[in-house]
Amino acid sequence: FSRRQFIKGSVAAGVLGTAAGIGLFRPESNLGQGKSDQAAVKGTKLVTTICEQCVWRCGVIARVEDGVVKMLEGNPDHPNNLGKLCPRGNAGIETLYSPDRIKFPLIRAGARGSGLWRRASWDEALSYTAEQMKKIKDKYGAKAMMFNSTDNLSQPFFEILLKAYGTPNYGTQRSLCFNSMTTGFLYTYGTPQPGTDFSKCKYMIFTGRNLAEGISNSETQEMIEMVVRGVKVVVLDPRFSKTASKATEWLPVRPGTDSAFFLAMINVIIKEKLYNEAFVNQYTQGFEDLVTEVKDYTPEWAEKKCEIPATAIRRIALDFAEAAPAAIAHPNWRTSNFVNSFQTERAIAVLNALMGNWAQPGGLIPDQELSTLKLGVLSHPAFPIAQGIRLDGVPWQYPMVPLAYGVIQTMRDNILTGKPYEAKGWLISRQNPVLSIPERQKTINALMKLDFVAVIDIQASDTAYYADVILPESYYLERFDGLIPIKNKIFIRQPVVEPLYDTKSSLMIYKELADKLGLGEFLPFKDEKDLLSQQLKPFAVDLEELQRVGHYEMEDFQEDHSKDFEFQTSSGKIEISSGIMAQMGKKAVPTWNEPPRPEKDQYYLLTGKTAQHTQMFTQNNRWLLEVFPENRAWLHTSVAAKIGVKMNDNVVLESEVGKVSVKAYVTEGIRPDCIFMVGGFGHVSKGLKAAYGLGASDSALHKTITDPISGGSALSETFVTVSKA
Ligand code: SF4
Repeated sequence: FSRRQFIKGSVAAGVLGTAAGIGLFRPESNLGQGKSDQAAVKGTKLVTTICEQCVWRCGVIARVEDGVVKMLEGNPDHPNNLGKLCPRGNAGIETLYSPDRIKFPLIRAGARGSGLWRRASWDEALSYTAEQMKKIKDKYGAKAMMFNSTDNLSQPFFEILLKAYGTPNYGTQRSLCFNSMTTGFLYTYGTPQPGTDFSKCKYMIFTGRNLAEGISNSETQEMIEMVVRGVKVVVLDPRFSKTASKATEWLPVRPGTDSAFFLAMINVIIKEKLYNEAFVNQYTQGFEDLVTEVKDYTPEWAEKKCEIPATAIRRIALDFAEAAPAAIAHPNWRTSNFVNSFQTERAIAVLNALMGNWAQPGGLIPDQELSTLKLGVLSHPAFPIAQGIRLDGVPWQYPMVPLAYGVIQTMRDNILTGKPYEAKGWLISRQNPVLSIPERQKTINALMKLDFVAVIDIQASDTAYYADVILPESYYLERFDGLIPIKNKIFIRQPVVEPLYDTKSSLMIYKELADKLGLGEFLPFKDEKDLLSQQLKPFAVDLEELQRVGHYEMEDFQEDHSKDFEFQTSSGKIEISSGIMAQMGKKAVPTWNEPPRPEKDQYYLLTGKTAQHTQMFTQNNRWLLEVFPENRAWLHTSVAAKIGVKMNDNVVLESEVGKVSVKAYVTEGIRPDCIFMVGGFGHVSKGLKAAYGLGASDSALHKTITDPISGGSALSETFVTVSKA
């Protein structure tokens, strides 16, 4: 699939009004039978695997001709994508053959951050990494070593490694993205992320979920099908996003005030007695407290806060109630944008509960476990108990954040101040804190202060650029990862081609590092195939068959709905009034917290996604750069006129912590008090030769502000000034 075909496909897809209209497409070919076929045509083979251009894990069928990957297509047997790939998935071939791959292990040979390394053997690079990690443990204790990884199929084995090493200090991406959603629903329903039944839904409200650009393949397809079906879709967004363009109603809400809108909807629904009384009586607790709390949150009150007309709020509340229980206020995803985002999520959770849409067609789906199929597990010795307080402040500074979620943005403070104790080393697997965490310069300063930094990645990310050792990972088309069960099926990521360079799977990097650390017994497998065979033990399928077919299906699988109404909260009910919030001395029902507003001549800085890139991971992909070459600052036409700027002129954005120069995108599709940037550009690593110097980084501008309840990073509380460059 050539670059020309790819661009043609993307552009064509971009103008269609169906699922293809937001960039999901399936080129015509003879692929798509859902099975690997190692000898379809002489010299040609089809291999099934799982995409890793983002975290959604779509099924892929690769066509390999004479050892070269020629085409990737969606696997129709895979529920995460139903035969379609998004532009990022299709462009995976470019990443595989990118000249910027790290081709062998590297050990730093100049000053940290100078970009000078020397080639090392795997034995030397892993021995050196283990030696440095042991030194830190002996001198300062295991707690001085931080581990970070992003969501991926081998993450559970990275977590075994860090627990075996003995540190409590582990960071993931969660607090930069969805902590407010997960904690908001956890403290209401006892589950962090309920599912949604789009197929029967008659009324959907999105706030903070831009499925047409933050593509989650199957969910994005379902959203488009919903639109085609004529379902009422309401989008609250200060920007006219691609999702807003597909919606039946776009409400340009004032940033940070979504909770006023939802509290006013609740006010109307209670006043008009439109809630599901039987459901509320049987399955919820705290309704009377809610009645008292929301009595003054009228649509007229909310209009002054969120700038959505009271008449619209009242109308939407009435229509939403009429469609219930097939009506969903979507739990969203990227909602950790204000300190009050936890309250927004609580209001959304409670609004859904009032509608009684739980476990109903077109409502919220209780079971968020990926599958009830349980893979075989490695048997290893008990972990040594980690000593010390977590560097990210959980649980001492953020006692309401579940331990698994973490507050990654605060870890740097400990490195820089040494309080409550110092961090001395950082092992980072496929994550890029330099570009993802607010205050880029602060992250760089923290990296420069550490004794030791090691990064596992496929390319020299901005964080790898500051590493002492880079351990090159094989790309997903070259490697195995842990198996993934989805409902009644188990899927496999497997090599489509042999590794092109001297790289390894992360599974083997973790395993061999554990061996060098004297912790090999915690990862008891010889190689990837041995590990996967252990995972398959409970099932009537062997690895060879799984590789051939691409998935294993449990035929007599029955979904178990017996526990759908057993809520894992302290009361066993949906907690409209949260027991934990009350215990912590906080307002137990959803409430209004006034967010900060920009001063005169300041603007809200909003960031988000585009369909052609994944966070800060794909900007070096040359095919994707053809279709989305750089980010620009969205400015309202009135703002552009005020500062004398035209489309594509350079503007300077300045916040309290940084300053960037970036091209302007002048539009009426944004509120005049907001400036928007797609995140992930402005790379500082010169190893990313295609992306280096393109666009600007939002992390250079963002202030570090954290919601004390959910630990979410309040990114949109950064305000900027704008001027002509
Ligand atoms: Fe790959 Fe796109 Fe699916 Fe993500 S949504 S896994 S990038 S095809």
